[in-house]
Amino acid sequence: MATRRKLKKQVYFVLGGLIILIVGICFAVKFYKNYQYQQTYEYKLQEHGYNDTEVARILKEFNDEEHLNYLLDNTKDSKIVTLLDEEYYLSKNFYEYISYLNENPDMDLDEIVRNINIHLDSDFYEETFNANTSLDTSMLVNKYYLLDSSYAPDDLVTISQTYSWGEAGSQKVREVAYSAFLDMWNAANEEGYYLMVSSSYRSYAEQEEVYNNYKNSSGERYADSIAARPGSSEHQTGLTLDIFSRTNTNRETFKDSAEAKWLAENSYKFGFILRYPEDKVDITGYTYEAWHFRYVGEEIATYIYEHDITFEEYYAYFLED
Ligand SMILES: [Zn+2]
Repeated sequence: MATRRKLKKQVYFVLGGLIILIVGICFAVKFYKNYQYQQTYEYKLQEHGYNDTEVARILKEFNDEEHLNYLLDNTKDSKIVTLLDEEYYLSKNFYEYISYLNENPDMDLDEIVRNINIHLDSDFYEETFNANTSLDTSMLVNKYYLLDSSYAPDDLVTISQTYSWGEAGSQKVREVAYSAFLDMWNAANEEGYYLMVSSSYRSYAEQEEVYNNYKNSSGERYADSIAARPGSSEHQTGLTLDIFSRTNTNRETFKDSAEAKWLAENSYKFGFILRYPEDKVDITGYTYEAWHFRYVGEEIATYIYEHDITFEEYYAYFLED
């Protein structure tokens, strides 16, 4: 009997020991898991002040230590998370957005994104790049993206004098844009309008002459307000037409004509965009030109028309590397 009781005691002892061991292991595991969790960015971001939704959004966007550590090294700012959902947000510009936002804390986030995307944080002509001519009909040429003096399209065709002013053979445009223009001309004509081209392809040298004439007579500031510097004129692409009507070639009044309204509403169907709209002057750097149309192809023109953005914005988001 005594041996049996002794045995029972030993069993209880072993069992008790086991239970203590198991409980101990459980605690250790729990402690270790907790420790591990504290090493995660999820935990660190929460501790930094971001709420659960924000943390989830941040982790969806970034899986690299550099960005996550950057967020932890800087003051918590919910605006940064909102920025990630801006329509034209580009991850490559993240740090630029943040520093621009710090300089302009009251600016709307869509403006922050837009201005950085299209380089509006720099003055016109201050930060310049080579226009990417390999993009062909969707190349961007403006006060940041310039063509060099050697660029000239090799498929220029002459615009018939039926549709253009000037001496015979003086108006030229790229073939693809001419065929689109003719379709547009016919559609307009069916509605009783008679469109006329007043300016088309302009070489680098011609633009240089135009610009320098203004510059020499009235100074650089005036020249910049009225003409593009050589290399920055879209007319050098051969994809741009200044279009008026047969009865109105007046830059002041054309905007109010039925033809100008028809062009603004219908040109995208033929691949053209009103390049310098009235409400986009600060973005394009050009005063409203109701006559200046750029061929970009139907797909791009339709997107730009429907989303009411400029070609600058489209280019930065969809076409630039
Ligand atoms: Zn023009």
